[in-house]
Amino acid sequence: MKPNGTSLNTRSNGHHPAYDVLSDLTIDEMGDDHVASAVETPLRADAFEISDDTKIELIEDHFREILTILGLDLTDDSLKGTPHRVAKMYVKEIFSGLNPAKKPKATLFENKYQYNEMLVEKGITVHSHCEHHLVPIIGRAHVAYISSGKVIGLSKLNRLVQYFAKRPQVQERLTEQIANELKTVLQTEDVAVIIDARHLCVSMRGVQDVNSSTVTAHYGGKFKEDEATRQEFLRHVSEPTASL
Ligand SMILES: [Zn+2]
Repeated sequence: MKPNGTSLNTRSNGHHPAYDVLSDLTIDEMGDDHVASAVETPLRADAFEISDDTKIELIEDHFREILTILGLDLTDDSLKGTPHRVAKMYVKEIFSGLNPAKKPKATLFENKYQYNEMLVEKGITVHSHCEHHLVPIIGRAHVAYISSGKVIGLSKLNRLVQYFAKRPQVQERLTEQIANELKTVLQTEDVAVIIDARHLCVSMRGVQDVNSSTVTAHYGGKFKEDEATRQEFLRHVSEPTASL
């Protein structure tokens, strides 16, 4: 048992500690408003003390329990493997970006071409999950930077977006995390990130709006201070993508 509440695999009294202070109504409202608490993903200090394989085993047990409580017969051939599949998918795929060890190594190159203009990587696929409902957030990210003398492999930009997307997320936080990482890696403040995404928790439940999308943006350095730079980025983003 950890001092701050639940242990990793058991619950002492059947109550999650958060339920002691938040009413059901508040919990629903917080989820629907998608309130984020911090830029950093709230992780436990002991988040990676157990192995991925152990996590999969534990989640599988709990998921079997959840499905059974819902009334499903897990002896059915089609359902039998679901708890294991879900557990493996959580740990190895859709939430694998929780683990800093999975962060893509970003190799920097000297900017030998002296390309000092803005570089825009647009239309990067974003598949994430809303941390309030654990249903998909699907959209596109557009990122840009102005080289400080270092450049990064183009595919690394996509990989960094995907790494931070593979967490339970809030779109604002995802945007900030990508921007902050790019600033660190590229050693410049001149970074911009826009994410335009649909939230399935908005379309398939709650207000059930199937047409809305959410746009979040972070403008750093010249993108923030210089209107012309920001407009240039926005113009690139709104232009049709090159066809092959
Ligand atoms: Zn949600």
